[in-house]
Amino acid sequence: TGELKAAIAKKHGPDAGRILVGAGSDEIFLMIGRAYLGPGDEMICTRHAFAIYAVIGQQQGASVVEVEEKNFTADVDAILKAVTPRTKVVWLANPNNPTGTYLPYDDVKRLHAGLPEGVLLVLDAAYCEFVRRNDYASGVELASSNSNVVMAPTFSKLYGLAGLRLGWAYAPAHVIDAIERVRMPFNVNLVVQSVGVAALEDEAFVQESLAHNDKELARLTA
Ligand SMILES: *Cc1c(COP(=O)(O)O)cnc(C)c1O
Repeated sequence: TGELKAAIAKKHGPDAGRILVGAGSDEIFLMIGRAYLGPGDEMICTRHAFAIYAVIGQQQGASVVEVEEKNFTADVDAILKAVTPRTKVVWLANPNNPTGTYLPYDDVKRLHAGLPEGVLLVLDAAYCEFVRRNDYASGVELASSNSNVVMAPTFSKLYGLAGLRLGWAYAPAHVIDAIERVRMPFNVNLVVQSVGVAALEDEAFVQESLAHNDKELARLTA
């Protein structure tokens, strides 16, 4: 996976040594669950969060705390109010699926600032490349400068490779270390690794994908 991690690092900025790859970001989330959640622990997600977080929490025997949203948007104060000494992970898809809403970066930073250091904030950045608003950021900077933030993009959406299964995460070194202990050794196969490297170079496809999304966004909104 060295070549793939180097290609991701080159394109997105983070240190290649702090990149994890998985069979889709779903597998990365599953590994986070295996490493950080068990009976007696709590995890927090929002009412209409991407569904896999709650499934993973339940599989691990953790308590899944679903927090109400405001206007189908994550509510930072409500999330912070739900934190207890048992909270281990807070999941935030930004933008979220299925609501299509997002939190401006200032709100994400406020959420992070309000969390105890022992709580892992997982920023699911599956749609980060599609956001054009200038109050948004994917969280690369938060993940690089804090010990408790993971940022996870995927090749499934912008690159249209959902069926191939390739996601990645940028995480602090101690989180990578914990996840390496639960990761299956050959979780991302060689074909997928090569396709990932090629996809990162395919700027024409990226532009086509963004243009397609702009067109369909307008239609769906109407
Ligand atoms: C599609 C999606 C994912 C999962 O993507 P994979 O990389 O295919 O596992 C994660 N989060 C959100 C919000 C998604 O919409």
